[in-house]
Amino acid sequence: MKTDLKGLDTREIEDWALGLGLKAYRGRQIRHWLLGKLAASFDEMTDLPQSLRVLLDKESNIKHLENIKTLVSEDGTRKYLFKLFDDHLIESVLILERDHLTLCISSQAGCAMDCRFCLTARHGLIRNLTPAEIIEQVIYIKRSLDTPDHLTNIVFMGMGEPLANYYAVIKAIGNLVSEDGMNFSHRKITISTCGLVPQIKQMGRDVTVNLAVSLNAADDETRSYLMPVNHRYPLDELLSACKAFPLPNRRMITFEYILIKGINDRDEDALKLASLLSGMRAKINLIPLNPFSGSDMSPPPVKSILHFQEILIKNNFTAIIRKSKGRDISAACGQLSGTVEYLPGQSCSA
Ligand code: SAH
Repeated sequence: MKTDLKGLDTREIEDWALGLGLKAYRGRQIRHWLLGKLAASFDEMTDLPQSLRVLLDKESNIKHLENIKTLVSEDGTRKYLFKLFDDHLIESVLILERDHLTLCISSQAGCAMDCRFCLTARHGLIRNLTPAEIIEQVIYIKRSLDTPDHLTNIVFMGMGEPLANYYAVIKAIGNLVSEDGMNFSHRKITISTCGLVPQIKQMGRDVTVNLAVSLNAADDETRSYLMPVNHRYPLDELLSACKAFPLPNRRMITFEYILIKGINDRDEDALKLASLLSGMRAKINLIPLNPFSGSDMSPPPVKSILHFQEILIKNNFTAIIRKSKGRDISAACGQLSGTVEYLPGQSCSA
């Protein structure tokens, strides 16, 4: 089996180099080429002897994804469709913010969580991504940019439930944040979860990245209807884990709340939400549902969305209505399906 080098930390790549009869520093050198200089092949590693490059090619694997399509939205959002070595498909979405770029990456092919409002759920879980496959989304896309330094923020909000692929995600984050890795700031990385309580607790011990929780309802009955995971970890357990989550100074937990017409958008839902989160360092992201074909749910009218927000603000919460980006190319939240179809008229480049 070839070794996936992009998934290794410094110690592991040094050991791997030693195992091949090389000096440990060669391992560090290769890691820097891959994660720091974003090399796509051993041939680019010009300070390695040619004979070594041939050996490395034989012993290890550094190409994990094939970009089979890139769709560009009217608002500049880009959706990258990648093929894994076993032909499964995943998607990553690059979002243009005012002064930086945010990359939304996938942690699994498909998803097992079965949320009623999410298109990815229709596939069920296909498989977990490896740390190298997670990292490679960032490397590939960063490499393709004219201004790679503008890519500062990473969110685990693509396909899959990141905390259900816990060790691979934590490993990938290690290489994203380490100074001799990709050197991202841990303050600019966010894991979004549907609410896997034991892993939220573990995450608080293992990393200092941001936590976002997809809440979507303020009572157990509605939440269990929308998100089966709520049967396993009901709201009181989830909120206790959030309250105990270690937050560095001035940081908050983000609670995502999809607004769905007639399901969770009444005044009393907003009031329940405010009381559920009272006393917490919480920021609320309101996301009008992105509909997809085959779903009978729709977003509320704009007036009700603004009214819902107003109630939260009156209760002293920061509540932001998240503008949906990339809707025309099905790149918005919950629209990632890992399929190659696209509508006529969309720009498309491979
Ligand atoms: N499994 C993780 C990350 C993937 S979902 C999680 O549950 O957080 C990323 C975000 O997209 C979540 O906040 C989710 O609630 C939201 N989302 C899913 N389907 C959506 C839809 N149809 N419309 C709007 N947001 C959606």
